[in-house]
Amino acid sequence: MRRLGLREWLAVGRVMAAGDLMRSSGPLQACAGFENDLARKTDAGHTLTVSSGTSALICALAAAGVGPGDEVLVPAYTWMATAAAPVLLGAVPVLVDINATLTMDPDDMARKITPRTRAVIPVHMLNRPCDMDRILPLARAHGLIVIEDACQAVGIRHHGRHCGAIGDLGTFSFNQYKNMTCGEGGAILTSDPTLFARARNMHDMGLEFRGDTGPAADPVFVGSNYKATEIQGAILRVQLMKLDGHLNRVRRRIGVITDIFRSAGLPVAPLSNGSEVASLVVTFDTETEASDFARHKAADRLYDNSKHVFTRWEAILNRRLHHDGLTPWDQAGAGGTDECPRTISLLKRSCKIAPMDRYPLPLVTRTARRMAETTGSDSFTEMAEA
Ligand SMILES: *Cc1c(COP(=O)(O)O)cnc(C)c1O
Repeated sequence: MRRLGLREWLAVGRVMAAGDLMRSSGPLQACAGFENDLARKTDAGHTLTVSSGTSALICALAAAGVGPGDEVLVPAYTWMATAAAPVLLGAVPVLVDINATLTMDPDDMARKITPRTRAVIPVHMLNRPCDMDRILPLARAHGLIVIEDACQAVGIRHHGRHCGAIGDLGTFSFNQYKNMTCGEGGAILTSDPTLFARARNMHDMGLEFRGDTGPAADPVFVGSNYKATEIQGAILRVQLMKLDGHLNRVRRRIGVITDIFRSAGLPVAPLSNGSEVASLVVTFDTETEASDFARHKAADRLYDNSKHVFTRWEAILNRRLHHDGLTPWDQAGAGGTDECPRTISLLKRSCKIAPMDRYPLPLVTRTARRMAETTGSDSFTEMAEA
């Protein structure tokens, strides 16, 4: 979670003083300014601010032309929105197991591809880039559109390239818990002008009557309203300036904790090849070890993270939309299996370690040493009670 400070406060004040909060007419053009900054930073050709990460996924899928009859590959470990977005457009999410990196397993992805598969959404969970070296060529070989869900990896790189700017389209979230925030918000990234025009069409049905001069979809189709306000744009411009400073703090702390854990022989989960180190997960041999370890204040067992685990996506597993006439699974004539045993096993045995980015390094070092030293469950109980 990011701190909001005086600079954000002043930026919001300037927008309010200007008196128009809509991005189309607001005189400060804060959203447009943020989009330029974000495009420059990530090397994405085009960026679009939207109201949330979920709406970014919906617009990206709509831009890709995903709809009834289509299957979309999503990992079994992600925030539920990744799987819900295809359903909202009439398509079917097909669950793909994760591997030891805690991100989409390219081998299982290959197994889950069918003639109906239209797109794949690799999710860079917990600041951990997916194995794009294998996912991208596999997707290309089968003509799949790649939509990176980088909602949890804003500012993180894979082989030096920004997550979200590697595939055909990428999505960011700026909700309160992400690498940068404006409370609720999101962005779409793409370097394809046609996809960009279609994402813009989806996010605002009223482009033409507003005298908009940007790229328009051809032909124009029915859109919705997922626009961001100038207040969001103004906050995001400031947060983007602070992003690298924040991520540097995270990287430095994760590096220190990782070294201490490795020397102590703790089972540090691997990152995919080419990933920068900004995340730490330990994967034990047994569930009990993971549950015991999770009693530390700075550790959480991944399985206990509610709607991030596919078994808790009741509405999707029960195939229920708001109206019984909407039947994406019937239309796809299939609808992948809901079994991902490896994901369950990994999540039950894994704990994520907080970067403790608000604490000074010496305190982080001391805490990490204590975590590494305490291996028996008695001492965990003592620590929890202390
Ligand atoms: C947060 C998140 C989203 C959705 O973002 P919102 O802004 O909350 O709608 C999508 N996917 C992942 C992996 C996320 O963590």
